[in-house]
Amino acid sequence: MVQVAAETAILDAALAAGLNLPHSCKSGHCGSCRARLVSGAVTYPSGRPLGITADEEAAGLALLCQARATGELVVEARVIRHVTDVEIKTLPCRIETSERLAPDVLRLALRLPAIETFSFQPGQYLDVLLDDGRRRSFSIASPPHDAARLELHVRRVPGGGFTDRLLAHDVAGELLRIEGPIGQFVYVDAPSPVIFVAGGTGYAPVKSMLRHALECGTARDIVFYWGARTTVDLYEAATVRGWAARHPRLAFTGVLSDADDGVAEHGLVHEAVLARHPDLSAFDVYAAGPPAMIEAIRASFPARGLAPGRLHFDSFDYAPR
Ligand SMILES: Cc1cc2nc3c(=O)[nH]c(=O)nc-3n(C[C@H](O)[C@H](O)[C@H](O)COP(=O)(O)OP(=O)(O)OC[C@H]3O[C@@H](n4cnc5c(N)ncnc54)[C@H](O)[C@@H]3O)c2cc1C
Repeated sequence: MVQVAAETAILDAALAAGLNLPHSCKSGHCGSCRARLVSGAVTYPSGRPLGITADEEAAGLALLCQARATGELVVEARVIRHVTDVEIKTLPCRIETSERLAPDVLRLALRLPAIETFSFQPGQYLDVLLDDGRRRSFSIASPPHDAARLELHVRRVPGGGFTDRLLAHDVAGELLRIEGPIGQFVYVDAPSPVIFVAGGTGYAPVKSMLRHALECGTARDIVFYWGARTTVDLYEAATVRGWAARHPRLAFTGVLSDADDGVAEHGLVHEAVLARHPDLSAFDVYAAGPPAMIEAIRASFPARGLAPGRLHFDSFDYAPR
C-alpha cells in the first residue's frame, strides 16, 4: 500500500516508498512505466501522454510517471526489477574538469566529497538538481570500478535552461547538487552475444557498460553501433576503435546520418543494425539515445526475433516542464 498525494505522480510516490517500478524517461514518452489499473481511475494533468494510445488507455493501462490518482487504486505493475544494493544519495559535487568532446558536447568530471561513497551500476544516470527545484538527467559514462570521478557527456540543447549555460563558459570548479544513482538501464553480463546501440550522447551509458564488460573480462561477443549526424559527433570513435583492436570479441561500427566520411556507414543507426542482423533472437540489446531512435528500435527489433525481456533501453527525453 502506497499513499500518494493528489498532485504527485504515482510513480514518484512508489519510488519514494521504495518500490522500484520500471521507468525510464519520466516524461510520459517512453512507455516503460506502463501498468494495468485493476480498479480505480487516474487523470493526467497535461492530457493523455504521448507514450500511451487511446486504445491502451481504454484497455485499462496507465503511464505511472504522469498519472495522478483520483481515489483509491489497485495497480498491477510489470516486472519489478530490483537494482540491487544501490543507495540513492543527494550529494554536492565539484566540476573538476570540463572538456569539449565535440562542438556541442562536454565531458564533465565530477568530484564527490572525499568522505562519501557513490555506488552505481553500469548504465545508470544521475539527476542534477537545479535551484528552482527542477532536475536534469545525465548518464554516468564512467564504470563503477572507476568511480573516483564521475564522467558525464553533456550535449547542448539550444535554448536549454541548463546545458546552454554549461557550454557557454568555463564551468570547471563550479559546484553542482546531484541525486543518484537512478534507473533500471543496467548492464548484466551473460553468455549470449550482445548488441549496444547508441545515438549521440547515448554513448555515455554505453561507454560505462562497455568499459565494465571489457575491463571485467567478459567472455561474450559484443557488437557496438554508434549513430550520429557527422564525424565529429562520434567524438570517441578512435577510443572505441582502440578497444576493438585490443579485444577481438568487440566489433564497432560508426553510423552517420548526415555525412559520409568513407569510414562510418551512412544512414540511421537502427537500420544499420537491422541490415547486419536479420535474426536478433540470440542477442541481448542495450540501446540509449534520442526518443526517436528508441521508438524505432522498439518498433522494429522485436519483429526480427528479439525477445521483449532482452531489449533494455534509456530514452533521452527532456525533463517535464
Ligand atoms: C535517463 C536520461 C538520461 C540522459 N542522459 C543524457 C546524457 O548522458 N547526455 C546528454 O547530453 N543528455 C542526456 N539526457 C537528456 C538531457 O537530460 C536533456 O538534454 C537535458 O535535460 C536538457 O536540459 P536543458 O535544461 O538544457 O533543456 P530544457 O530547458 O529542459 O529544454 C531544452 C529545449 O527543449 C524544449 N523542450 C523541453 N521539453 C521538451 C519536450 N518534451 N519536447 C520537445 N522539446 C522540449 C525547450 O523548450 C527548450 O527549448 C538524458 C535524459 C534522460 C531522461
